[in-house]
Amino acid sequence: MPPAPPPPAPPPPSCLECEIVAGRVRPPGGVLWRRDGLVVHAVAAPTPVRGWLVIAPERHVRAVYDLDDAETARLATLARRLMRLQREVLGAAHAYQVAIGEVLRHAHVHVIPRYDDTPERLRGPRVFLAEPGDALPEREAEAAATELARALAVDGHRG
Ligand SMILES: [Zn+2]
Repeated sequence: MPPAPPPPAPPPPSCLECEIVAGRVRPPGGVLWRRDGLVVHAVAAPTPVRGWLVIAPERHVRAVYDLDDAETARLATLARRLMRLQREVLGAAHAYQVAIGEVLRHAHVHVIPRYDDTPERLRGPRVFLAEPGDALPEREAEAAATELARALAVDGHRG
């Protein structure tokens, strides 16, 4: 009897953000923007608000403290653009910028619109505590992401 084949190698440690950057995981609407080493996509989880976006560097680094000055400046400028577009295109009343990095250990910034009708219990940090019943239908999340992607493309290099 021939010896048993060796057990399969364990899967490599995976990083959700690297999987999105590589196109192996597709958040609603896919990668909406890719330029200068940065990507923008909809949050890769059920979302209670239309147009919740994530900006991340394509390269795997732990957090914003690992970026160089030019990358940091590009990320901040892009975050400002996205916040403006969430207000102008989606009609958000306000927008948040949040980076924590305790779950996803690949540098990223959440850019989250807040609408006039966003319930009090989903405002501020509580938006991260949304329950499954708060999630928008996936097609609605995708439509908002696509709308922002179109605006981003038209917006071009405006700061
Ligand atoms: Zn990564």
